[in-house]
Amino acid sequence: MTEERPPAKPTPCPICRKPSTADFRPFCSDRCQKIDLGRWLKGVYAIPTDEPAPGPGGGPAGGPGGEPEDER
Ligand SMILES: [Zn+2]
Repeated sequence: MTEERPPAKPTPCPICRKPSTADFRPFCSDRCQKIDLGRWLKGVYAIPTDEPAPGPGGGPAGGPGGEPEDER
């Protein structure tokens, strides 16, 4: 029996739609690879978060449920 596997289709570069190369799959070149990487990073940093980012030394002091301060 001989398996006839279809040849792997060259995935078109998601950036410029050119046939991808083996070196930069699924992109056609390192240029498109970087472009996609840049988009990906942008997307990551552009995600809006409802939670306040915990800054260094900027913790919420005296929040609800904190220490009672009406003791004199
Ligand atoms: Zn490309």
